Amino acid sequence: MQTVTADFLAAPRPIRRVLIANRGEIACRIIATCRRLGLTAIAVYSDADAQARHVRLADQAVPIGPSVASQSYLSAERIVAAARASGADAVHPGYGFLSENADFVRAVTRAGLIFVGPDADAVATMGSKIAARRLAEQTGVPLVPGYTGESASDEELARAALEIGYPVLVKASAGGGGRGMRRVRRPQDLAEALRAARAEAQGAFGDPTVFLEKLIQNPRHLEVQVFGDGKGGAVHFHERDCSVQRNHQKIIEEAPAPNLPDAVRDRLFAHALALTSAIRYAGAGTVEFVMEAGGDQPFFLEMNTRLQVEHPVTEEICGVDLVEWQLRQAAGLPMPLTQAQIRPRGHAIELRLNAERPETGFLPDTGQIALLSAGPGLRVETGADNGDEISSHYDSMFAKLIAHGADRDAALDRLLAGIDGTRIAGIGCNLGLLRDCVTAPVFRRGEATTGFLDQVFPDGWQPDADR
Ligand code: ADP
Ligand code: ADP
Ligand code: MG
Repeated sequence: MQTVTADFLAAPRPIRRVLIANRGEIACRIIATCRRLGLTAIAVYSDADAQARHVRLADQAVPIGPSVASQSYLSAERIVAAARASGADAVHPGYGFLSENADFVRAVTRAGLIFVGPDADAVATMGSKIAARRLAEQTGVPLVPGYTGESASDEELARAALEIGYPVLVKASAGGGGRGMRRVRRPQDLAEALRAARAEAQGAFGDPTVFLEKLIQNPRHLEVQVFGDGKGGAVHFHERDCSVQRNHQKIIEEAPAPNLPDAVRDRLFAHALALTSAIRYAGAGTVEFVMEAGGDQPFFLEMNTRLQVEHPVTEEICGVDLVEWQLRQAAGLPMPLTQAQIRPRGHAIELRLNAERPETGFLPDTGQIALLSAGPGLRVETGADNGDEISSHYDSMFAKLIAHGADRDAALDRLLAGIDGTRIAGIGCNLGLLRDCVTAPVFRRGEATTGFLDQVFPDGWQPDADR
């Protein structure tokens, strides 16, 4: 540990103190790596989070304002002020909030601080799905057929949709978290879908720009974890399958992807690395693809220029700490491993625990977690401990359970044993639903597509009284 800390002090951009511009499980996760590396972890918190787990774990904690995120975790000004006041050298953005905001990256850098992530230009380009599609096209990465005409009128979009062929998907260029998307099956429904998607995009991202993609009917979501050295060099940490989703938002992720031909795998890696190298990307990123189930051609979707929620399944199979890699890159230190030294072992599966009631339309739930004990054999990433309050102010995901095994069956067995040893009370939680997902034959066979939930629970999910 001494030598690791010494590495950071002697680095081209020395780092001793890291401010974590986030909350919940990801803030706790980043604090854990800072601790292991001997770096000082500085938390920030809103009024609602004064007693939160990430505040308790950090070496130091700075209040940044009211509970509403726009005045605390989404305020670049307040976070940069907190970083300066606390003597931080670097700012880690986590995921969500300001992590993909190019203006935030610039504000951090202007304040003389190190941003743990890629440069503002990469964040800006990839933050626009339209710009990212253009870049992918130039790089020779296959795209879902689509139409990205700038400031396109409804008439132009209608013509383009006919050309692409229905069904199409209206998507927000600035979209994230599955928001700002509408499926359209018939020409007469396009105008209303455009209106709804633009309104949702304006509300969520402050940008109403939308574009069209062909709706892939039965897709798998595949993605590649990449890491760039900022000079055009890059490695990948293999792929993840995140096909189990609700409302375009992942709920179960695994690595490697089951039932994937090696030829497709090689294509995924080649495309992801081509894109990463083309923009001289620095740090951790994820290149996302969709592919028709049973097909052999993955199509580029987007690149996320940050740590991904599901990064632990990759860490489990590759035996790396991606937060450490990010901090080393930020300090100007070389990548710890070459591609040949990154060898995946076994299989890992992650479940996202949300404070919600799946049996009543997935209404988010709040309250005090009366008991949170995770079964043995699991890696647990949590933002809340026994007795902590889950508030209504932020994302409902409060923890993740991760199982690793020698192969997919072993990982699944460990996961199930872990779920059955896990007790959560005091709040509604989707664990029962997730258990039924991983025991469903389609999932067991490794054949889930993004239509999985509708397929397995056509009438919605209800807790089984016999269980
Ligand atoms: P991933 O592929 O890593 O799941 P998502 O796009 O789903 O990425 O978003 C990551 C996390 O950040 C999710 O928990 C999502 O709810 C949250 N998130 C997405 N956009 C925002 C935002 N604008 N503000 C706050 N949280 C967000
Ligand atoms: P976000 O930024 O919200 O994560 P993505 O473009 O990554 O947006 O898409 C999120 C999810 O929506 C995908 O994982 C997939 O399930 C679905 N999706 C996106 N584009 C398509 C498409 N063209 N056809 C079918 N499904 C799609
Ligand atoms: Mg995505």
